[in-house]
Amino acid sequence: MTFHNIIGKNAVSEKMDKYLDKKKRHAELSGLLNTYSRQYYMFEDPAVSDAEYDSFYRELLEIEEEYPELRTSRSPSQRVGASAVKGFRKTSHTTPMLSLENAYGEEDISDFVTRVKKLSNIEDFELVLEPKLDGLSVSLGYRNGALISAATRGDGSVGEDVTANIVSLNCIPPKIDDCPEEMEIRGEIVMLKSHFQELNKQRTEGGEKLFANPRNAAAGSLRQLDSRITASRKLTFFAYSIISEKSNFVTQMDVLNTLKKYGFTVSDEIMLCGNQSDAFEFYKKIEKRRAELEYDIDGIVYKVNDLSLQKKLGATSKYPRHSIAYKFSAEKAQTVVLNIITQVGRTGNITPVAELKPITIGGVVVSRATLHNKDEVGKRDIRIGDRVMIQRAGDVIPQILYPILEERPADAAPFVFPTICPCCGSPLAQKETEVAVKCVNFNCEAQLVERLIHFVSKLAFNIDGLGEQNIKFLFKNGIIKSPVDIFRMKAKNAEICLENFDGWGKQSVENLFESINAARVISLDRFVYALGIPQVGRTVSKLIAAFFQTYDNLFKCVENKECKKLCEIQGIGSSIANDFDNFFSNENNLKTIEELCGDGIFPGAIKVTAMELPKNDVFGRQSIVFTGSFEKFSREMAQELVEKFGGRVTSSVSAKTSLIVAGTNAGQKLDQGKKLGIKIISEDDFLKIVDKK
Ligand code: NAD
Repeated sequence: MTFHNIIGKNAVSEKMDKYLDKKKRHAELSGLLNTYSRQYYMFEDPAVSDAEYDSFYRELLEIEEEYPELRTSRSPSQRVGASAVKGFRKTSHTTPMLSLENAYGEEDISDFVTRVKKLSNIEDFELVLEPKLDGLSVSLGYRNGALISAATRGDGSVGEDVTANIVSLNCIPPKIDDCPEEMEIRGEIVMLKSHFQELNKQRTEGGEKLFANPRNAAAGSLRQLDSRITASRKLTFFAYSIISEKSNFVTQMDVLNTLKKYGFTVSDEIMLCGNQSDAFEFYKKIEKRRAELEYDIDGIVYKVNDLSLQKKLGATSKYPRHSIAYKFSAEKAQTVVLNIITQVGRTGNITPVAELKPITIGGVVVSRATLHNKDEVGKRDIRIGDRVMIQRAGDVIPQILYPILEERPADAAPFVFPTICPCCGSPLAQKETEVAVKCVNFNCEAQLVERLIHFVSKLAFNIDGLGEQNIKFLFKNGIIKSPVDIFRMKAKNAEICLENFDGWGKQSVENLFESINAARVISLDRFVYALGIPQVGRTVSKLIAAFFQTYDNLFKCVENKECKKLCEIQGIGSSIANDFDNFFSNENNLKTIEELCGDGIFPGAIKVTAMELPKNDVFGRQSIVFTGSFEKFSREMAQELVEKFGGRVTSSVSAKTSLIVAGTNAGQKLDQGKKLGIKIISEDDFLKIVDKK
């Protein structure tokens, strides 16, 4: 073998190694992007920020650029959005609803312009610049001027039929005069920033999970199975396109003007542009003003104005060649950590929180950021006095990215996690298997207040007028110390104290007493949920209520110390039964319940029917075990999916297990399942069940 040959061989094997590395990374990125997309599009609950998602996506594109054979039809780079979710009727788009190609710098826009020139053989053309609205794209079907259908984008070919929900919105004209016989109007459903803040405020008061950003709030509000919920949310539709075989529109500007004439809202921030330097100026101007706009935008869309040229340019399977979105970078800013405090939650969990020098970012004043838990604050080594880089990229709570170490004050000391509760001074405890550090004093005041807030929240006793601030005020003034005090307020002449509190008048106090009275009659599931038993959320409390049917049956079970009976309920395992048992073994809890019932609360007076069980009951209360490792979802995500679709995840295999989802390297649990004859499915089978049927 010659020297030359050896070099040649090494080079080949190096190339091969590099290819294999890239192939592995490509598979890894595809798995991550698929998981994140599902979480983002199906649950409106992004697992990562848009900036993080985009950086993984760009890395995937770079690999595919180098190795085009990896660009298969299953690659995330070839897919638009995500499949329509179960529960909605599916509807096919006659003209596909595509995504947009992304540009991240001026060079990408120049490349786009060169490409259009090359493909069309035309040197001069105008561009229309429109804000890239950050919402949910929707296509509205009109026949003879009447609104007849509405669909989301879904995967671009098949979307969700949201006609009933769209009809309930008054921002969309139901009838249009003087328009083509058949046409589709496309645009974006968004939630204005002010309406988003209002909605999240209500959700905070109601103890509901907050929407991460206006986009998720808009998507979550539109994709409701009950159109009354959609109607109650304030949504806005911005139109930007008309699709019709028989129209005489010549330019995109014509289209936008006609949309306004039809009565649709069209963004005011639009510019017709003849040259690139004006186009870049416009981008910079809007990026600066982004925070002041009433609605969220995440870039500028550059569109060829001439519609015949648009048609000539056509589209790829993912995006039209006549448009490109020049994205804004994530909104980042620097500020100073003024303090690090720890907060006590309802179940005693201690959360470290950074108090920041207030700063406006993404149109929102930010003065706090969570540091999650003891491990996280230790790992990140964020200290009081640190200048930190924060980012708000599609997340309701800003992230602290990192401390600027060069600017760290000499006396900034590492944060020492407390060993005693910041509220009651009890020693803190941490189980070996858990990340959470807890205050285990059940009578800790901070926990009492959080439990009261939960008790009156929307999904529990649903007492209008008793939001977080009011509960804190009434607790501080000694009026409400335990749930039963709520129902004794009138008897205790609480109005004298309330009327001295800002914002309360005679009428609002009367209204409050009325809603407290109305709350005395409550269904058993809401009552059980209101008690705030660890692990007993909405789904579990409904299962428990459906099992016992009456409060007497439930209480008999508690009295006879038969809480293990709960394990008979499909979907409830021994860990929940233990928490339930612990709760009812506590004298304080029993006293509270006894007082409530003695004070005219009637749990179970409203019957729980099968109809009230969770919708989307795909798993029909089955208990499901996950074993092995999974490429496309995390364990937490799997649990969330199962619960969302009416099932329950348990950790061990038993005769009661209905289904095992086996990933790679599944071992003992899989063998046990096989022995017991339990149905076993793969990771992909599981996704098929939850994705679509
Ligand atoms: P996109 O939403 O970035 O862009 C395409 C869409 O822009 C179109 O479908 C259209 O509905 C909309 N649009 C808004 N204004 C428009 C206008 N004036 N004219 C024309 N169209 C307009 O693309 P996508 O494919 O839906 O989503 C990809 C993006 O979503 C990613 O870049 C990422 O930022 C985000 N994402 C985030 C996560 C996450 O986990 N954070 C997951 C998936 C996707």
